[in-house]
Amino acid sequence: MRVARHPDPRKRVTEENKLAKRLRRQVGGAIADFNLIEAGDRVMVCVSGGKDSYGLLDTLLALRAKAPVEFDLVAVNLDQKQPGYPEQLLPEYLAARGVAYRIVEQDTYTVVKRVIPEGKTMCGLCSRLRRGALYRVAGELGASKIALAHHRDDILATFFLNLFYGGKLKSMPAKLVSDNGRHVVIRPLAYVREDDLAAYAEMRGFPIIPCSLCGTQKNLQRQVVGAMLREWEKRHPGRSESILRALSNVRPSHLMDRRLFDFVGLKPTTRPAAAGDRALHTLRALDAGELGEPLFAEE
Ligand code: SF4
Repeated sequence: MRVARHPDPRKRVTEENKLAKRLRRQVGGAIADFNLIEAGDRVMVCVSGGKDSYGLLDTLLALRAKAPVEFDLVAVNLDQKQPGYPEQLLPEYLAARGVAYRIVEQDTYTVVKRVIPEGKTMCGLCSRLRRGALYRVAGELGASKIALAHHRDDILATFFLNLFYGGKLKSMPAKLVSDNGRHVVIRPLAYVREDDLAAYAEMRGFPIIPCSLCGTQKNLQRQVVGAMLREWEKRHPGRSESILRALSNVRPSHLMDRRLFDFVGLKPTTRPAAAGDRALHTLRALDAGELGEPLFAEE
């Protein structure tokens, strides 16, 4: 994702400062909203060498420097032994930044190649093996939190993938307990846009390692949904933000999951709901003004 930068160097610096500030504000907002990081936490930041995980680590480092509470950060990279993987790149970068880190070598590449038939996408199994390795390392490091670099657009794409293909209203939460029940997984980039992370990576000159060294295709459905969201955003700016807000503003009584709302036992309450249907209130106002006797008795 190429990002246009301002040709005037002074304006570019202003833009870049604004971007860095926005990232810190959004990450800080997610941390506060979901209590992602607490005093004394040891946060294992998963760094793949992609733009998103560099942005996550960089922003957490900046926030930690000014945080009112103390917490530890340790970067972890999994060297999955794909051919051509530049194994020195991340250790050199992390050492230069003065970040505590662990490089984990695990040849998931050979396993995935052996198990997945030629021509089929390997990313699903690859990700599962990676997750298992990261959970193990989190235990070894005594990490209280595992920070992943999924951003707002990953969360939206996952929501639509589950909606279109899984028959579930479900996405990636900002905080969850890992499948093995032992770790708390956090997503501090939950409010951050992908294009901001791309611009930030370019601005900071992160040494990117592409996640395509194995030559496989990315999940096709995810790509299609991503393109759909980008197209929507182009035609209707603000739509992605609205969808994200909707994920934090769920009304089980206006959906159809009987496990979340007691539709079977629903009875009249005899009083209007505070957050009820606005159309009803509008109708009442119209009714009072235009028809004389109101249809609905005042509370
Ligand atoms: S592109 Fe390669 S390394 Fe990245 S998730 Fe897919 S299989 Fe794994």
